[in-house]
Amino acid sequence: MSKSKSSESVKVVVRCRPMNEKERAANFERVVSVDVKLGQVAVRNPRGASAHEHPKVFTFDSVYDWNSKQLDLYDETFRPLVDSVLLGFNGTIFAYGQTGTGKTYTMEGVRNDPERRGVIPNSFEHIFTHISRSQNQQYLVRASYLEIYQEEIRDLLSRDQSRRLELKERPDTGVYVKDLSSFVTKSVREIEHVMNVGNQNRSVGATNMNEHSSRSHAIFVITIECSELGPDGENHIRVGKLNLVDLAGSERQTKTGAQGERLKEATKINLSLSALGNVISALVDGKSTHIPYRDSKLTRLLQDSLGGNARTVMVANIGPASYNLEETLTTLRYSNRAKNIKNKPRINEDPKDALLREFQEEIARLKEQLEKRSGKKKKKRRRRKFGEAGEELDDDNNADYWREQQEKLEKERKAIMEDHSLVAEEKQRLLREKEKKMDDLHREKEALEMLASKVKAMESKLLVGGKNIVDHTNEQQRILEQKRHEIAEQKRREREMQQEMECRDEETLELKETYSSLQQEVDIKTKKLKKLFAKLQAVKAEIHDVQEDHIKERQELEQTQNELTRELKLKHLIIENFIPLEEKNKIVVRATFDEEDDTWKMRPITRIQDDQQMMSRPVSAVGYRRPLSQHARMAMMMRPDARYRAENILMLELDLPSRTTKEYEEPVIAPKVAAALEDALREEDEIQVDASGLYANMGSSPGLGPGAMAGGFSKKPKSGRPKTGKKASTPTAAHSPSGSGSPLYPQSRGLVPK
Ligand code: ADP
Ligand code: MG
Repeated sequence: MSKSKSSESVKVVVRCRPMNEKERAANFERVVSVDVKLGQVAVRNPRGASAHEHPKVFTFDSVYDWNSKQLDLYDETFRPLVDSVLLGFNGTIFAYGQTGTGKTYTMEGVRNDPERRGVIPNSFEHIFTHISRSQNQQYLVRASYLEIYQEEIRDLLSRDQSRRLELKERPDTGVYVKDLSSFVTKSVREIEHVMNVGNQNRSVGATNMNEHSSRSHAIFVITIECSELGPDGENHIRVGKLNLVDLAGSERQTKTGAQGERLKEATKINLSLSALGNVISALVDGKSTHIPYRDSKLTRLLQDSLGGNARTVMVANIGPASYNLEETLTTLRYSNRAKNIKNKPRINEDPKDALLREFQEEIARLKEQLEKRSGKKKKKRRRRKFGEAGEELDDDNNADYWREQQEKLEKERKAIMEDHSLVAEEKQRLLREKEKKMDDLHREKEALEMLASKVKAMESKLLVGGKNIVDHTNEQQRILEQKRHEIAEQKRREREMQQEMECRDEETLELKETYSSLQQEVDIKTKKLKKLFAKLQAVKAEIHDVQEDHIKERQELEQTQNELTRELKLKHLIIENFIPLEEKNKIVVRATFDEEDDTWKMRPITRIQDDQQMMSRPVSAVGYRRPLSQHARMAMMMRPDARYRAENILMLELDLPSRTTKEYEEPVIAPKVAAALEDALREEDEIQVDASGLYANMGSSPGLGPGAMAGGFSKKPKSGRPKTGKKASTPTAAHSPSGSGSPLYPQSRGLVPK
């Protein structure tokens, strides 16, 4: 391993996939050639005028052609990276390229085929094998899986797939995803399960899987914590984090014709990817002081991997066919730039947030508890044993102890049962006591067992190696792996030497200054000239291409800008013409820009801004702490009693409804009529009235009672019905002047005027 302080470049490898069925069927030309030995990719432009053009050549750390095996890639390129993650470095693998060029194939591969498994499953195997072979080390492995789609982060392992997570930053540990779930895994099978769950969730959220996966970034994170006893006698923890990133397709998103929502969407889709490009440019530029990490979620999250303290490998995937030419060249240029990013890898030693430390402490705490509990038991037992018969103390076995205790209690219980000298009551009491003791014993035992199982469960999560290290096949496998490793290393060195030789070749040409003859000089110089000329042409072509690329990009940006300007103008127009000025001002005052979320937000209306004076007070509150009603103010002045002082009782004038009825008026009877009436009534003296029922009911009614009983209305000739009516309990029915409908009174015979 290289020294931890020195800087190293991002490693960039290129992989070209084979022609697929369709391309073969359509007879597409292959424009990419790969020189594995030299680590070079050459792309030739097959079209007319530029047919004589030299192919464009790019050199990388290593290149893989269509025959490359997944395992070769792993051994040569990814294994060293995962090894350093196991040592406590952070490591990142990016897969970059156009959709359909093999990013997912490289990262995940074909799940059920061991030959074609990608980096992620291969790294599982690698990590857990390493752990099982380790000695005197404790490991904790956990995994998370997330996705970034349209600048929103989704936790692929959480139950609630509709939730979006946020990025947060802490000064000590840097940028992290808040509430991201992570699962502790103890074996390859378990971590594979985690990956499968995430992959399922990835497709669940998408309506069109193809489009979705080509526009989203998937990041699988494996965190490996390792604890080892240091020379200072202390446990030291190293934490390595491996980010496995399957990026969105790098093809240009066509923004033409997009408007409104769709335009917004289009500009957002590959924001993370273009931000990644900008970060790379800024990093290798050498002049930029500002690296725009904050421009996108992806670059913020992977800040460490780009110019930070992580080791990084980028796999650029390309397609071989002619119709991919442009994208292939873009991908190669992009990754060519990334080669120059310098990282300063560093081991994360004893970080504050190591989960392993927490686990160890928790286990120690539980063990101590366990110790205390069982220690108490043993002491008790010892004391008792000495007291009783001085039995031997050699069986410290716990199970024995529990059995013994139970048997003893059982025996004692039996003894009580059989003891006839005891009174029944006393016996019951003693029996109950014994039973309670037995219960307690049980409970104690259960509690202890639970504690023990908890300790066991926690300990099982911490992985320790060295168990099957002696097993033979394992050993052979290890040797095999080492050999493979050596071969990979050998290849790498060969390639480097080849590349170096190429360089030297040119230099030596210059060094050979002495010529034996003029002809020779001409020959050599011509050769040199030719070579340099070719080089010049290549560089010129490259410059031309890059310029064209720039122009195209610029045009696209201008177009986007135009669209946005147009939309802005429209919005302005609407605001100027249709929104009242004060409303607009209100909104302008309330709007604030949220740096964290990169959006404009509205402050709630009710909140009084800190920097502003209180809003002017309502008139009713002037001079008081809060608005007061007239009543309360009066009460404050009039009464010493505090009760109504602050009560906002409203004083209102009584607002009575206007009457809709008339006062009752007694009928006015002319004296003549009255006399006649009297006569008429008198004549009816003989009429018998059966009012016994009424009497029973109206016994308390003085006006009616006696008269009715006597059957003589005559006795109260002037009392006037209205008066009695007022007193009676059923006035209207009983005393209506007409008397109609009343069964209690005789029908008048029409003598009484209405
Ligand atoms: P991407 O994720 O970049 O969109 P995929 O990984 O889905 O692309 O690859 C597209 C297709 O090409 C898949 O069917 C995959 O099996 C195939 N493929 C890609 N790379 C290779 C390779 N190196 N060897 C064989 N098949 C490949
Ligand atoms: Mg893919």
